Amino acid sequence: MIPVFDGHNDLLLRLHEAPDRREAIWLTGEGKGHLDLPRMKAGGFAGGFFAIYIPSPEAHDGLDYMTAMENPPFALPLGDLIGHKAAQPVALSMAGHLRWMERSSQGAFKVCTTAAELRACLAQGVIAGIMHMEGAEAIGPDLDALYLYHDMGLRSLGPVWSRPTVFGHGVPFAFPSSPDTGEGLTPAGKDLIRLCNKLRIMIDLSHMTEKGFWDVAALSDAPLVATHSNAHAITPSSRNLTDRQLAAIRDTGGMVGLNYATSFLRRDGRQSGDMGWEDALAHLDHLLEKLGEDHLGLGSDFDGATIPVGITDVAGQQNLVQAMRDHGYDEPLLRKICHGNWLHLLERTWGA
Ligand code: ZN
Repeated sequence: MIPVFDGHNDLLLRLHEAPDRREAIWLTGEGKGHLDLPRMKAGGFAGGFFAIYIPSPEAHDGLDYMTAMENPPFALPLGDLIGHKAAQPVALSMAGHLRWMERSSQGAFKVCTTAAELRACLAQGVIAGIMHMEGAEAIGPDLDALYLYHDMGLRSLGPVWSRPTVFGHGVPFAFPSSPDTGEGLTPAGKDLIRLCNKLRIMIDLSHMTEKGFWDVAALSDAPLVATHSNAHAITPSSRNLTDRQLAAIRDTGGMVGLNYATSFLRRDGRQSGDMGWEDALAHLDHLLEKLGEDHLGLGSDFDGATIPVGITDVAGQQNLVQAMRDHGYDEPLLRKICHGNWLHLLERTWGA
């Protein structure tokens, strides 16, 4: 079993939505969702980015997002901007759940803020968590809260989820669609990127528009990273990366994590887990060709997406590793994709 370090999951959202069941959700598992401590151990989950995400209020237009995504083509409208005063209590609650996961795990799970801590966890078999924010709604335009979140352990930030923020614009969920769907960073967004560089907080570009991607590329002194996105050449989703974007990521020593979400993975763009390995392997081959073998990792989107039946949940993630092995990827390459590349990227971004 090769340990897997993972670019993105939404377990904190499950805890936030059912705090009275958090022991069952995290510690014992309740047979739902994709992640819990017992299944992480069973599947060789070595660690990953745990997202603080502010849920959109209920959609009032009657649109059934799930049905639409199961029947491409689709282009789904986004929610309105959420202000930092509404977002901050939610973000604090989720950061608290992450710290509670650490305390309640009796040494099995640790929130890491340095690359040395990550390496130690991997060596000792302790599951490593990185505090990540997916969408910077909880930070006001004065940026003061970013210092506080950094003190709490935040080491990774996406300026936007797909919904707009005061910092920039994200891509709506659309298939087929270019990622060039609208505006990029605002002036406040440029300040946010500069401060992330100064604090050495990793910047995640997964949900940004193509304009926003190039704005960050022009400004940031850190490697470019998309924690959970795939190849647009294979699946032309708004959430996937063009070959030009992949080349820019490679040239900065950055990373892409393969997203298991079926609507970004299947060539037909359908949200349906009923699929084999062919499309996932086509993405991996393409990403390897464009990025090189030092810049590709995994970014499951566990607990945030519909994933292939061949994986089912974190306990089944070694099935994907085996599919890569059967496809001809050798053990040194598998170790890079499964964890080595993420560790090196974080050393380059955070400092060794
Ligand atoms: Zn996401």
